[in-house]
Amino acid sequence: MKEIMVIVGYECNNMCLFCSVGDQDRLFNRTYDDIVQNMADDYKNGFKSIQFLGGEATIRKDIIKIVKKAKEIGYEKISFETNGRMFCNEMFTKRIIEAGLTHVTFSIHGHTAEIHDTLTQAPGSFEQAVRGIQEVKKYEGVVVAINHVVTRVNYKNLSDFLGFIEQFGISWILFIFINPIANARKNYRILVPKLSETMKFMRDAIISSNGYKTRISIQNIPLCILGEYDELSTTIDDQRDVTVNFEDEKKPQLSDKIEELKIRPDKCYSCKKNGICEGVWKGYYELFGDDELKPVT
Ligand code: SF4
Repeated sequence: MKEIMVIVGYECNNMCLFCSVGDQDRLFNRTYDDIVQNMADDYKNGFKSIQFLGGEATIRKDIIKIVKKAKEIGYEKISFETNGRMFCNEMFTKRIIEAGLTHVTFSIHGHTAEIHDTLTQAPGSFEQAVRGIQEVKKYEGVVVAINHVVTRVNYKNLSDFLGFIEQFGISWILFIFINPIANARKNYRILVPKLSETMKFMRDAIISSNGYKTRISIQNIPLCILGEYDELSTTIDDQRDVTVNFEDEKKPQLSDKIEELKIRPDKCYSCKKNGICEGVWKGYYELFGDDELKPVT
């Protein structure tokens, strides 16, 4: 199903150290009419799935009205990528699900408040997000997934994190190796772990989660580093049907944005995976070079 990602504005109630829109005007919110116009046009252009993003889309005063409108227009899948804090409010959760919400992806970056709140720079955000998951899980038809940005603050705790998440009955968890964009670019030296070092802990986490119900995917770790676990990787093809609707840009495809920001160094040309691997973030390559990449023969 073709998906449109709609950025509704950049206002947010967290201050994540790795925020990928942290360089935007945080007070900026698109108007309701502008969003509705886009939703209607995108639906006519064949999009049946819509995902709302920010900033933090759930803190808009008119967000329930926007979700209702998306449903009225005909969208079959209506989702949010969210820090999850608003969902701790029982009434908000009930109303947004009744309005048409079908999928929620919570961004949770640690199995403890100490780790998560350090990364979000928002004391109490962990507790609210966890309560948010519990509220949404009361509604059987709503699919819940997790995004977990892997950084130097949390990469040694991936097994603990999977164990913690398992209790909630989550469908799917996506480990995202930190992108060097906006805030993350500014804090990259402090936040980025080495890929090879991260992979040691990722491997342990995957092994320790054997038998868990939550499905794992991994983003932004090159296939040669994932090795025997490369099938868990998302690929550029997964993003081809996803288009991002910014206020100030002409609907770029997500796959094009990613390709712009990544590099496959010269040694990749001899690699068997070259056609399907995204390579490595340019920002990572500038910092650490390509010593860790081992072309697959
Ligand atoms: S050598 Fe390059 S193309 Fe091959 S898997 Fe590694 S990063 Fe990807």
